[in-house]
Amino acid sequence: STMAAPATVPCQYRTGKTLGSGTYAVVKEAVHIKTGKYYACKVINKKLMEGREYMVRNEIAVLKRVSKGHRNIVTLHDYFETTHNLYLCFDLCTGGELFDRICAKGNYYEADAADLVRTIMRAVDYIHGCGIVHRDLKPENLLFRTKAEDADIMIADFGLSRVMDEDKLQLLTEICGTPGYMAPEIFLKSGHGKPVDIWAMGVVTYFLLCGYTPFDRDSQEQEMQAIIKGDYAFEPEEYWANVSETARDFVHTCLTLDPAKRPTAKEVLEHAWLADETPHFVADP
Ligand code: ADP
Ligand code: MG
Repeated sequence: STMAAPATVPCQYRTGKTLGSGTYAVVKEAVHIKTGKYYACKVINKKLMEGREYMVRNEIAVLKRVSKGHRNIVTLHDYFETTHNLYLCFDLCTGGELFDRICAKGNYYEADAADLVRTIMRAVDYIHGCGIVHRDLKPENLLFRTKAEDADIMIADFGLSRVMDEDKLQLLTEICGTPGYMAPEIFLKSGHGKPVDIWAMGVVTYFLLCGYTPFDRDSQEQEMQAIIKGDYAFEPEEYWANVSETARDFVHTCLTLDPAKRPTAKEVLEHAWLADETPHFVADP
C-alpha cells in the first residue's frame, strides 16, 4: 500500500493489546477498521518527546528509505499524528522478539544461530548500503514475522538510526544505544558509524550461542570498562562446550576493538561460520 499523507484522525484504527514498549513509545496491536487488517501501531507521546520530535521524523525518513527494499526489515505502512501523539503503523510481526525466543530456549543450536545471524547480517549489509547505521541492534529489536519456528526475522526500531555520508568516515559522537550492545568507540567518543552495528551483532551472536551477554557486570561503569578493554570470555565452559571454534572466531571478529579494523557486513558474511550455508533438507513427499 502507499504511504498516506499524515492524517489527523487515527480513528480508522482500533487499538488493542500492547505488544511491547521502549523508551518513548508503546506499541499496540491495531486493526484497520475498514479492512479488518491487523498492524502494529507505535504510539509516541509528543510531550515525552518534546524537543526530540526530530527523532521520530528521522525514524520515518529512514524507514521510508529502507523498509520496502528488504524482506527482513519491518515495513512502515502508515503514519499520522494527533494533538498528543504520533502514530507509526507497521506490518504486524506476530512472532515476538528474538529476546523472548532466546530466553525460552536457553540458547540456540549453532546451525540455527548461524542461519539467523546470516539473515540479519544480509539485512544489515543492505541498510549500510543505503547509507544508514541502525545503532540499536539487539534481540529486543529483532522480531519474528510469524509464530512459526522458521519465521522470517525482521530488523525493527530505527529510532536511533542515522543517515551517514557515503564513504566518508563520518563520526557520530553522541552516546546512545543500549549499554550491553554498545561498541567501545561510542563510550570513547572517538567517533562512530556503521562498525557499531557489527559489534552489536557480535554481542547478539554471543547471546544466541550461550543465553547471556558477554559484558554483563555488576554496574554500568564496570560494564563500560569491560567493553572498552574487550574483556569477555567464552565462559563458564559448560555453556560453551558444544560451540565450535569457527563460531567463537566469528564472535571474536565482530568484537574487534578498533572500528577501523572491524570487518564490514560484507566481509563478515564471508566468514566461514556464515559462508558455508548448511543445506536444509526437505523430507521426501
Ligand atoms: P522503542 O523505540 O521504544 O524501543 P520499538 O520500535 O523497539 O520502540 O518497539 C517496542 C517494542 O514493540 C518492540 O521491542 C517489540 O516488542 C514491539 N514491536 C515493535 N514493532 C513491532 C511490530 N511491527 N510487530 C510486533 N511488535 C512490534
Ligand atoms: Mg526498541
